[in-house]
Amino acid sequence: MATFKRVLVANRGEIALRIIRACHEEGLEAVAVYSEPDRLSPHVRAAHIAVPIGPAPAAESYLNGGKLIDTAQATGCQAIHPGYGFLSERAPFAEAVAQAGLSFVGPPAAAIRAMGDKTEARRRMQAAGVPIVPGSTRPVADHVQARAEASRLGYPVLLKAAAGGGGKGMRLVQQDGEIESAFQTAQSEAVKAFGAGELYVEKYLERPRHIEIQVLADTYGRVVALGERECSIQRRNQKLIEEAPSVAVTPALRRRLSEAATAAAGSVGYLGAGTIEFLLAPSGEFYFLEMNTRLQVEHPVTELVYGVDIVREQLRVAQGQPLRVHAGALQPRGHALECRITAEDPFNSFLPATGVIRYLVTPSGPGVRWDGGIEAGNEVTLFYDPLLGKLIVWGDTRATALQRMQRALRELVIVGIPSSQAFHLRVMADPDFQRGDFDITYLEHAGPRLLATGASPEVTAPLAVVAALLAEQQRAAEQSPPPTVRPPDRQSAWTLAARREALDR
Ligand code: ADP
Repeated sequence: MATFKRVLVANRGEIALRIIRACHEEGLEAVAVYSEPDRLSPHVRAAHIAVPIGPAPAAESYLNGGKLIDTAQATGCQAIHPGYGFLSERAPFAEAVAQAGLSFVGPPAAAIRAMGDKTEARRRMQAAGVPIVPGSTRPVADHVQARAEASRLGYPVLLKAAAGGGGKGMRLVQQDGEIESAFQTAQSEAVKAFGAGELYVEKYLERPRHIEIQVLADTYGRVVALGERECSIQRRNQKLIEEAPSVAVTPALRRRLSEAATAAAGSVGYLGAGTIEFLLAPSGEFYFLEMNTRLQVEHPVTELVYGVDIVREQLRVAQGQPLRVHAGALQPRGHALECRITAEDPFNSFLPATGVIRYLVTPSGPGVRWDGGIEAGNEVTLFYDPLLGKLIVWGDTRATALQRMQRALRELVIVGIPSSQAFHLRVMADPDFQRGDFDITYLEHAGPRLLATGASPEVTAPLAVVAALLAEQQRAAEQSPPPTVRPPDRQSAWTLAARREALDR
């Protein structure tokens, strides 16, 4: 493992900017890549060098492994950080990176492979003594086998894709009569999403919480657990709000979860940052759900309560350096909350929204962190996930964090496209959420009540003012000369080329 000077960030949006910032703080240079519609994104400007890698479709840009590796070599990088999504959990990409003589900022390909196949992961966890959700540990051949497994487990059951992720290829089956058609839809969805149709059957747990443990592992054999994240506020199995610590986790339960998580990571020879997801039943029993072998979207809540920079630790581990965190000293301090601000209209079934961000004010002040990937003038398209930015707050108690999140959400102004902002404000003000009284079915139950009336005045009133201001600014701009642009301190031919290209359009 070599010491890095320059790292290629094979991603876009908020996570690309997050990683570039970590590179700079570690004293490393960062190379950004961008697809055609992302040419004006903040991550492009933040990097030392920015290289266009193709048109909008991810398959021709952010998923083009060969091109990313070539770009890393052409720009003199020693490593590639994949972020999350895209190529981050593709074992062949991790291998190709290594074969090209570069370091992959992530776990060994074998660990990605072992955890990427959910049935193999379940077998491995069973062998490591980690409790798994009751169900099959091998794919079922057809709906007949699925039915046999379901009646053994008892309905309801979940059909899941062995290669699954992002909630795709998953179907809830309430009774025997539904299993054949559910099998077919889940299988075709899995083939479409992952190119592999293997399914397995899991007992559907009633009203559990989604609790996950962050782990970090280094090449010196240390595996450290950084406590839990509570991720039960979901829509269609996708997380919307996360927090740390969880109101449902006592110090004793945290110890047990941490032991299971470190055993899980250790059993696959894990390195770097990873997350072990569990379902926590109302009885207090917990079950391994899956391992994400990469940086998670929601990593900042852990960073805030543990005082650790997870991305900088990833970069250290990839360079063969020891972790800077010491298990003995790890105690969560205070409380952190994260709201995923997405380009989706909560009052219209969370329909993805597209368009140009006309105006943007991001929250700041005590205890507030905005991890964003957009700015005014950027276009939001349907080519990528709808995440605009993450609003994260810290407070000495959960109550303080809740108040702070409400304050910060009111400061956020997004003009040009609908966002999930108003939804988050309503959740923060909801007595059930405030009491911590929720599970993964929260939105199913609370959604209709929370979203019964249209956008709140606290969100629409500032928008009306901003819209008027924008119109005024536009009138003024039409009469004044264009603003001068101050050149940044460090410039390379690549950055200049990218900027010139951007300005030309
Ligand atoms: P994916 O990898 O597609 O995201 P996961 O297995 O991580 O799928 O599950 C996603 C979400 O689906 C979980 O956070 C949970 O809300 C729900 N879920 C998954 N498995 C079960 C189960 N056996 N019982 C109840 N809910 C489940």
